[in-house]
Amino acid sequence: MTESTSVTVLGLGLMGTALAEALLKNGHSVTVWNRSPGKAEPLVAKGARRAATAAEAIAASPLVIVCMSVYGNADDVLTGEAPAGRTVVQLTNGTPGQARALAEHVTARGGRYVDGGIMAVPQMIGGPDALILYSGDEAAFEESRTLLDAFGTARFLGADPGLAPLFDLALLDAMYGMLAGFFHAVALVRSEKVRAATFAPMATAWLTAMMEGFPGYARALDDGEFGTDVSSVATSQVAFPGLLDTSREQGVDPALLLPLRDLLDRAVAEGHGEDGLVRLVTLLERPAS
Ligand code: NDP
Repeated sequence: MTESTSVTVLGLGLMGTALAEALLKNGHSVTVWNRSPGKAEPLVAKGARRAATAAEAIAASPLVIVCMSVYGNADDVLTGEAPAGRTVVQLTNGTPGQARALAEHVTARGGRYVDGGIMAVPQMIGGPDALILYSGDEAAFEESRTLLDAFGTARFLGADPGLAPLFDLALLDAMYGMLAGFFHAVALVRSEKVRAATFAPMATAWLTAMMEGFPGYARALDDGEFGTDVSSVATSQVAFPGLLDTSREQGVDPALLLPLRDLLDRAVAEGHGEDGLVRLVTLLERPAS
């Protein structure tokens, strides 16, 4: 058990409750506040102290954890209150711009600001697989480390408060892309009444093997070397219509594939046919007008 320290949690939805529980489990002195007061009761039964107002909760502890639905909610609560002398750790999902704006607001009022992105579901909080990304005031982060370690594995990304939400959303972005591919692929095999369960292990093995290419793609991007001896943009561009035709023949909507077809066409039209597929990143960085 770690040394007991005072901490406040604002927002007791599924995630805020998991965060408060993890702090209580680690023996910390936890003050909680939620817009609908009823949600505090199970935590009070476990030893938390309920504050009647957000201002009272903020005043109760040097460290204030915020976890609400959207940034607008947290903005409303924090901009109405004075976080002077407090470290605010904002774990509500938002954009880098929102994080920077709230950081300015908090620091202008004498507080310190750390933004965070939770890469976990509530059930994972407190375990080593819960990755929490942080950025912002590094000294404030380090001083709060004992408490923040209660949530899982902490990773500090840098002084810009926008970095944690940027990485958070980039990881979600990668996840949605992967899910889109898997969902389309599974619709293809289901069009022949193949059970998804038959296909899923093959897809897992295939995608795992494909992911081994990530470090090579990253090196190519960092070095600006796009040559390839594996599979070129032109090879994929030629093969891609086969995917679309198969999809249509099988009665499966090819919509998820179309933007990638367009990007491959554009890469070839711009003279990048001999490059590796990672060349597409540079086209995304320079959207077509
Ligand atoms: P919930 O919907 O369970 O809880 C939302 C919380 O926000 C409640 O405490 C709610 O209060 C509060 N809230 C909403 N509107 C306002 C408002 N206008 N003023 C004050 N408080 C308000 O969401 P989660 O706890 O699941 O998620 C919280 C954050 O954590 C989100 O940003 C989410 O993206 C992020 N997150 C969640 C994950 C998850 O798996 N759940 C995973 C990773 C990140 P009230 O009870 O009064 O409605």
